[in-house]
Amino acid sequence: MVQKLTILGSTGSIGVSTLDVIRRHPERYRVEALCAHRQIDRLCEQCVEFAPRYAAVRDDNLARELRQRLATVSCATEVLSGPEALVRMAELPEVDTVMAAIVGAAGLPPTLAAALAGKTILLANKEALVMAGPVFMRAVRQGKARLLPIDSEHNAIFQSLPDDYSGDFNKSGVRGLLLTASGGPFRKTPLEDLPKVTPEQACAHPNWSMGRKISVDSATMMNKGLEVIEAHWLFNIPAENIQVVIHPQSVIHSLVQYVDGSVLAELGNPDMRTPIAQALAYPERIDSGVGPLDLFDVAALHFERPDFDRFPCLGLAYQALKDGASAPATLNAANEVAVQQFLEGRIGFVDISQVIARVMERIPASGLYSLDDVLAADAVARRMAELVVDEINQR
Ligand code: NAD
Ligand code: MG
Repeated sequence: MVQKLTILGSTGSIGVSTLDVIRRHPERYRVEALCAHRQIDRLCEQCVEFAPRYAAVRDDNLARELRQRLATVSCATEVLSGPEALVRMAELPEVDTVMAAIVGAAGLPPTLAAALAGKTILLANKEALVMAGPVFMRAVRQGKARLLPIDSEHNAIFQSLPDDYSGDFNKSGVRGLLLTASGGPFRKTPLEDLPKVTPEQACAHPNWSMGRKISVDSATMMNKGLEVIEAHWLFNIPAENIQVVIHPQSVIHSLVQYVDGSVLAELGNPDMRTPIAQALAYPERIDSGVGPLDLFDVAALHFERPDFDRFPCLGLAYQALKDGASAPATLNAANEVAVQQFLEGRIGFVDISQVIARVMERIPASGLYSLDDVLAADAVARRMAELVVDEINQR
């Protein structure tokens, strides 16, 4: 049967990789809806190539422009706009699978809607799960949705856990998870040089090509911190059983340790098309376009302990997971603001963790029971982060 998809964030790095895998298997997949933010040129090309029934963007003016352009090339895709359009695309009754690849908190409402509508969710948008953990996982259970991780580490863990893993790690004989991290571009940069690094240097990841926000998160290692929280919710494993291991080659994408001493892992070339194809075709296997791993080329694999002084964001994320309730939402919102301000040149690289730490100190964790609670915690933390950025700039 042909699998019908909505792709949230189709113009981004994950969205483009997803369409590249789909392009190789036209007999298996049909794109029903494409959703994006600003890159109308790319979205227009994607509509022409994949002929989705719908395309959705947030902004009404951009929607009008896209409509005109599609009309000139006789493309019949219907264009919708507004945040509610994203939710509608995630709930389309004819769609079975939703690729959640919007970056940041903006992806939460449609991803949550996909969960409640019982879709198969291919989850790249880790921020949605980090900020809304208990609410999101409840929606998945309520909607009887299927959640398949796209993040390479979590996809590797998913592949290394037993097929019938029920969320009871003790019962499955799991001792813990080893989450690998490349260490990003500043693993060895002298600490005194970190305040001067530029957004371009921070976005130049040694192994993966990604969007700018996640690239900065990788440079601060907040990305790994978010992934610890993501792993906690996906696999129901306590923080103390999740260990981060620096592995600069990014060939082992993560590992599961079992009580008998066995350690299972997934390895491959660092290319997101592998986890995307794994999740798209699960439980089958399809060609992703990624070449075979050449171990002779790799030659050696290295491992290091993460340095929590160099990467304070990692400790802040563990702290947020420990504090629970709204603390991860606060962490995530403060991080989104700080990264944006860094990318726009208003604060320095080392200020990112400072902003997050101060926001977390000032906002006590509160209960998280509904989407409204999550959005409220997100909004409060964003306002506080903006205040802290002003304070930093007045120094
Ligand atoms: P990106 O910046 O390249 O793309 C983001 C996409 O989201 C774009 O299509 C953009 O149009 C859309 N978008 C942004 N803001 C939006 C808004 N307000 N409303 C609607 N759409 C909006 O980012 P990316 O690297 O593709 O990452 C996407 C997600 O996947 C992130 O959550 C990231 O953490 C996660 N992820 C990415 C990678 C990777 O290799 N790129 C790996 C693992 C996880
Ligand atoms: Mg990852």
